[in-house]
Amino acid sequence: MRVLITGGAGFIGSHLAEALLERGDEVVILDDLSTGSLQNIADLTMWPGFSFTIGSVTHEPLVADLMDQCDVVFHLAAAVGVRLVMNAPVHTIETNVGGTEVVLRQAAGRKKLVVVASTSEVYGKGTVFPFREDADLVLGQPTKTRWGYATSKLIDEFLALAYWQEQQLPVIVVRFFNTVGPRQSERYGMVIPNFVRQALAGESLTVHGTGLQTRSFTWVGDVVWALLALIAEPRSIGQVVNIGHGAEVSIRQLAEMVIAKTGSTSPIRYVPHHEVFGQNFEDMSRRVPDIGKLQQLTGYKPRVDLDEILERIIDYWSPELPPLASTLEVPFLHPSTDLYVH
Ligand code: UDP
Repeated sequence: MRVLITGGAGFIGSHLAEALLERGDEVVILDDLSTGSLQNIADLTMWPGFSFTIGSVTHEPLVADLMDQCDVVFHLAAAVGVRLVMNAPVHTIETNVGGTEVVLRQAAGRKKLVVVASTSEVYGKGTVFPFREDADLVLGQPTKTRWGYATSKLIDEFLALAYWQEQQLPVIVVRFFNTVGPRQSERYGMVIPNFVRQALAGESLTVHGTGLQTRSFTWVGDVVWALLALIAEPRSIGQVVNIGHGAEVSIRQLAEMVIAKTGSTSPIRYVPHHEVFGQNFEDMSRRVPDIGKLQQLTGYKPRVDLDEILERIIDYWSPELPPLASTLEVPFLHPSTDLYVH
């Protein structure tokens, strides 16, 4: 197969690209490097079936051209991370909705299978646990900036399913639940890279709010496995599917685990949410997926639990270890289009 990954230089996309190349597929990445990086894909450039274009997923002629070359599209390009969403709400909504419009419109003319990345954020403040794909969704007020992200992703879901219903475009919508692994940057506020970096540096671990809020964390390799299994299963078409891990942990417990596993002497510091994100912020008190549908479609069983996730991430961030990827020189600059093409 030849596979287009929008956002392929990002955290999940770069792992997906690697897995596809390793099994013999060809990979075309489109990424604007806003939150992705050349470093994430440095090791992929040695594969003959790999190509990379720097550009925006909202650039329709570019998307059309790349899609002509591919059989399947993973649309992962999006504005992500609570910090980014809070700081740049216009960019978040425009990128997430505009990019998906372009991808689906171009795929529809060519009848390409599109996997649309959505998020567990769409469950919002739901109160029926674990979250199942057919649950009603409970989002907060538009005056609370955070919900713009969930809403933009929900529009993406509606649009994808509308294309399926109206134009028989094969789509699969996946809802990711707190994916973790190497290359996830702590820059956008995600909790595990943040805690691990803080613990290794001997800084306080900043637990937001009471720390009683819960999440479930999924190893990126399990997410990649699920994505590849879903595109191989025709019953996935037209479906919305959770990708996550069924185990739940409070953020306070998580901080304690990170301290214990790093052997750090760092204390925990509780910081009110409004001090981090301003008054206009709401957090979810609980988030855990029902993964029955994914299991039923693909036989999925997450292989890496939280203990092992933390150990792997601590290894990855440990200062004595060499960095996993070297910085990639930008090889070809096309001056008239401001696109770098490899
Ligand atoms: N969190 C925290 N300290 C941090 C970063 C995050 O206590 O340094 C909390 C955050 O408020 C949330 C949870 O950890 O309750 C997960 O945050 P993350 O941004 O990783 O993902 P979210 O599930 O909120 O999208």
